[in-house]
Amino acid sequence: MIKFLDLHKINNRFRAEFEIALGKSLDNSNYILGPNVSKFENEFAHYCGTKYCVGTANGLDALTLILKGYIHLGKIKKGDKVIVPANTFIATILSVLHADLVPVFVEPNHKTYNLSAHKVSAAITKDVKAIIMVHLYGQLADVEGLNAIAKAQNILLIEDAAQAHGSMCDTGKAGNLGNAAAFSFYPSKNLGALGDGGAITSNDSELNEVVKLYRNYGSKEKYTNEIVGFNSRLDDLQAAILNIKLKTLDTDNERRRFIANYYLENIINPKIQLPFYNKSMNHVFYAFVVEVENRDRFMSYLEKNGIESLIHYPIPPHQQKALKNYAHLNLPITENIHKRIVSLPISVMLSDVEIRMLIKVLNDY
Ligand SMILES: *Cc1c(COP(=O)(O)O)cnc(C)c1O
Repeated sequence: MIKFLDLHKINNRFRAEFEIALGKSLDNSNYILGPNVSKFENEFAHYCGTKYCVGTANGLDALTLILKGYIHLGKIKKGDKVIVPANTFIATILSVLHADLVPVFVEPNHKTYNLSAHKVSAAITKDVKAIIMVHLYGQLADVEGLNAIAKAQNILLIEDAAQAHGSMCDTGKAGNLGNAAAFSFYPSKNLGALGDGGAITSNDSELNEVVKLYRNYGSKEKYTNEIVGFNSRLDDLQAAILNIKLKTLDTDNERRRFIANYYLENIINPKIQLPFYNKSMNHVFYAFVVEVENRDRFMSYLEKNGIESLIHYPIPPHQQKALKNYAHLNLPITENIHKRIVSLPISVMLSDVEIRMLIKVLNDY
């Protein structure tokens, strides 16, 4: 059986280093916002090329705190509209709702699954005060086009980089391509902890100060509370794990791109539509997503042949019970994508034998 993602294999590579780091934490007993968190914040900011990084409890909170932070700074206000891609993971939209803002669902470009400048332009109104660009599946959205719109409209451009650690283009790396960015270190992500984790990167000193307050009870000094904060700190043990795994993020991403290229060259089956990839480093292949006509049949064929596959994601956000206020929206591109997509295994731990076996099974379909 080729597993979709073998987290044990992925993390077991680092077992010896993990044990040393966890042993140190046990000795230091500095569990909350300890030395591992500040080390990770420095190193991840350096990795992304940003001035600042603030660790948070998870990716949803990272997004929410960015929005709450900009509200606190007066850059946006409650009730303002925020453009989001209609086909994103629901967290993007939940962050907008949690910050008392109003999501505007924009259809993606079907070729890239990401927001394009063209469709975003058409959705701009005077109430739209921010855009959240999601780098879905690890591929950068139209960074240049969306930055041009944000600049022309004088609105914020926020990155949901939860699937795009290390993706880059001429102007920089994910995390450094808008006003602020949110990352998730959920175990399955390209940089994954052994539990939950998240981060906010930016070059904005004011935002940095506010989100640092928000994640820690609105407190800079213990028992002094400046704003109505949250408890959303990156756990120090998770930061210790992330410090170790950050060192192999680039080689892991290279391996993912290698597998993706190998699939793209060798899967030759007119029944399987392969993803668009421009062969640059603008993609880190968090997911390798193909499209098929009869998905149930395709997925059970894969299963019978020992290949586990997943769907990112089976139900579009506006059709979720949680978002029933948006159920009336007519989003045909998004709905069509959600019916057809299947994610194939692209773990860094796949062996060459497994990759070839997978290609054979796909070509025999
Ligand atoms: C994983 C993910 C998130 C949320 O991250 P959590 O750490 O699970 O809260 C947000 N947006 C996207 C696109 C994601 O893939």
